[in-house]
Amino acid sequence: MSRLLPNSRAERLKKWTHQKYLSMKRFNKAWHEAHVMPKHATLEQRISWHLAHQENCGCRPMPQKLQMELNKRNAKAEAHE
Ligand SMILES: [Zn+2]
Repeated sequence: MSRLLPNSRAERLKKWTHQKYLSMKRFNKAWHEAHVMPKHATLEQRISWHLAHQENCGCRPMPQKLQMELNKRNAKAEAHE
C-alpha cells in the first residue's frame, strides 16, 4: 500500500520549507551579541529590536503578533496624515 496519507504531503512540504529556511538563514552573531533583547522588554522595545534585527540578521522572522501591531501602527500613522 503506497497510498499517501492526506497529511504526508503537507508534512513533506513543511520539512522542505524548513530545510530551505535553514539553508537561507544568515545568523549575524556579532549583531546579536551587541543587541541583546532585555528580559522584560516592553512592546515598544521588542518592535524596535525586531525592526533593527530584520535589517541586520535573518535568523528568524518577526513574530506575527509584533508584525500585526506594527501594521496597526502604520495604518494609524497614515490615517493621521
Ligand atoms: Zn538574528
